[in-house]
Amino acid sequence: NHSSEYILVAEKVVKRFGGVIAVDGATVKVRRRTITLLIGPNGSGKSTLLNVIAGFYRPDSGRVVFEGRDVTGWPPHKLYHLGMARTFQVPQPFHKLTVLENVLLAARGHPGESFAAPLQRRRWLPREEELVDKAFSILKLVGLIHLWDQPAGQLSGGQMKLLEIARVLMSGAKMILMDEPIAGVNPTLAHEILQFLVKLRDQGITFFIIEHRLDIAMKYVDYVYAMARGRVIAEGRPEEVVSNPLVIDSYLGG
Ligand code: ADP
Ligand code: MG
Repeated sequence: NHSSEYILVAEKVVKRFGGVIAVDGATVKVRRRTITLLIGPNGSGKSTLLNVIAGFYRPDSGRVVFEGRDVTGWPPHKLYHLGMARTFQVPQPFHKLTVLENVLLAARGHPGESFAAPLQRRRWLPREEELVDKAFSILKLVGLIHLWDQPAGQLSGGQMKLLEIARVLMSGAKMILMDEPIAGVNPTLAHEILQFLVKLRDQGITFFIIEHRLDIAMKYVDYVYAMARGRVIAEGRPEEVVSNPLVIDSYLGG
């Protein structure tokens, strides 16, 4: 039910691609207001599981329960309306629009095309003013406020990731799914991004993220699931999971 300690439960999920079993009966539960990490070697089924949860793939069997509701097979846009959103490994903002406009366009029920027109040329409606205020406070939170009127296409890779997070926050998401949010980012920025996720978690957002760079991510996360060959092979506190021989073997054995 709604007041359950878990915002998300994915139970016995199976997903095949032709003859390949990408996810083979994986169960994960995500507690509210946590950063829950999914680790595992390449090809272990992490992205596939995330995509089943986010509605990009329909599982062959098993179920996904979000906020007490069975949402198995729901398309991403319906999940988005319930408050679940996924950022992409490679963020896709509108490069010619400004940072602020990109955030505004992510608002739930945004006025659409009107925001794509130059913002400064006309008076804003009260609803729009509210959204602009919200967008600015989110940009402040993610540390992009000084770039608000820059075209998004001019941001660095790391700033693009921050922009993508800002856009998901603007959508009003309660739970954010991320596939390798710090991949390809320098260590300093990686720590900044993770610290920033902790701040958001403390404000009530739940994160379920895939990460490879355990060394960097470990100290920021609350709970870890480890996958190998489509299955969950370990779960627990970060320190427990990284020192688990099964987990260590799975990385060595590939
Ligand atoms: P991970 O994210 O842990 O690296 P994936 O979920 O991407 O693993 O992949 C798990 C397995 O499923 C791999 O063997 C991969 O080749 C296979 N796979 C993933 N996506 C597809 C797809 N769209 N079509 C066919 N096989 C896929
Ligand atoms: Mg992957």
